[in-house]
Amino acid sequence: MSRLTCPICKSSTTPAGTARGSRTGRDFTLRSCDSCGFAYVENPWTDYAQIYDEAYYAGRGSDPLVDYAFEFQADASTVRAYEWRGWDQLVHQLKPAPVKWLDFGCGCGTLVRFIHGLKKDEIFGYDTGAWAAKARGSGLPILTEAELAQHEGTFDIVTAIDVIEHVVEPLEMLAHCRRLLKPGGILIPITGNAEIVLRAKLASWSYVRPEIHVSFFTPPALSRALALTGFSPLPLPRGRGWHDILRARILKNLHIKRRSLVEQLLPWSLLSPLADSRYKMGRLPIGQAI
Ligand SMILES: [Zn+2]
Repeated sequence: MSRLTCPICKSSTTPAGTARGSRTGRDFTLRSCDSCGFAYVENPWTDYAQIYDEAYYAGRGSDPLVDYAFEFQADASTVRAYEWRGWDQLVHQLKPAPVKWLDFGCGCGTLVRFIHGLKKDEIFGYDTGAWAAKARGSGLPILTEAELAQHEGTFDIVTAIDVIEHVVEPLEMLAHCRRLLKPGGILIPITGNAEIVLRAKLASWSYVRPEIHVSFFTPPALSRALALTGFSPLPLPRGRGWHDILRARILKNLHIKRRSLVEQLLPWSLLSPLADSRYKMGRLPIGQAI
């Protein structure tokens, strides 16, 4: 299908500038949809073996904030622990424990490991690639594609954290997540909110790393995509759990990896809501499987 029509609502789209890939030096064309607000890379780089190679996972690829070797070793002494604890809390604001929970696109499986360790919920992860295999080799419940198919229709919760922006056909991914959920189950797709940037400035938005981030949602676009794939859109619960998740992300962006007295003295009850109102990720909907 032509990439000139919107992958979500099939309306015609307009060019929204070009962004240069930091790794390939190639120019990528952005387009945005006047009808639903979705924006995307028209000519994505789809040589996935090359994009997601060893260098990518070590932070030497298209995203310098990625460091899987550190992530994989990360424990409760790292700032990642705020994010894991936040997810535990946020998920249980939606559904009481125990839940059957899949972390779709789990990377090296650190959230899976944390939730597994709490022994409240039945947690699984799914991802492809060498790091998922390594996590599985370490004994974590990371499913292969064939195993995942056996679990269709059984999950209460599917988290897809920082996944959908990597996907060229987001409706296919959402429909896959819908098949995995029970009716009434909840999908939590977390991604950047393109509402914070004017279309004229889209190409210079720091979130646009066109070799890896290819799909950009506003709240109406994600609501539309969820509705088209068997979900009713719901607001994300933005309580203490969400603020802990934002705290971990603020620290990550500051390149602070370990919890310390210094960061603990920062006024998080102000900083996290401030980040929430600036980046508006929490305004993107989640979906309840119909
Ligand atoms: Zn559209």
